[in-house]
Amino acid sequence: EQYNIAIDGPSSAGKSTIAKKVAARLGTTYLDTGAMYRALTLSALRKGADLESEPAILAVLDESEIHLTQVEGHQTVFLNDEDVTETIRSTDVTKNVSVVSSHEKVRAEMVRRQQRFAEKGGIVMDGRDIGTVVLPNADLKIYLVASAEERALRRYHESVAKGMTVSLEQLTEDMKARDHYDMNREASPLRKADDAVELDTTHLSIDAVVETVLNLIKK
Ligand code: C5P
Repeated sequence: EQYNIAIDGPSSAGKSTIAKKVAARLGTTYLDTGAMYRALTLSALRKGADLESEPAILAVLDESEIHLTQVEGHQTVFLNDEDVTETIRSTDVTKNVSVVSSHEKVRAEMVRRQQRFAEKGGIVMDGRDIGTVVLPNADLKIYLVASAEERALRRYHESVAKGMTVSLEQLTEDMKARDHYDMNREASPLRKADDAVELDTTHLSIDAVVETVLNLIKK
């Protein structure tokens, strides 16, 4: 049987890690919707577009081919045939992605593309509006949360592992700013779907969360 699973929550709550593992266990596709908004943001920054302007960002979206593929179990993101998997995680992109993704018409087009993915069969999607907007009829909706301190620490370890020079203080501040923006913007603010199961991952191992999600599917 094929399941559609929606995983939402604030930044660094563990969404992509969990979504990837759940998809692998189910043998289905994984779609990182944040990566799509990040690739668009990178494209807009490179073009020097006015990030606050909806028409400008819509034009960038129209001119940018964004492809997500799984290469040997790893998700690879392409922007006009260039591998931008690493580049879209830069501080510059991370700082600007909330503004770029705040435009109503930009979101409408992204949602259309994401829903097209889901038509092909079972999928695990992670983002901010999957349970509420993209897959309102998902078989299972998860809302992942973790304390702000724990999320900042996770982001810190990830960044250090990648060889980036970062300060925990700065990361915490940026993360809080992005959370605030994501939760309070007019277009599709981050919120838990009424029928989503909330999981607090602060004190849980990755494997424990994956098992919990898989057990919820079987119910
Ligand atoms: O998940 P990730 O941190 O990579 O997402 C980056 C940003 O993209 C979020 O902070 C949010 O502003 C935006 N986003 C969104 N809707 C989604 C996924 C991500 O607005 N479905």
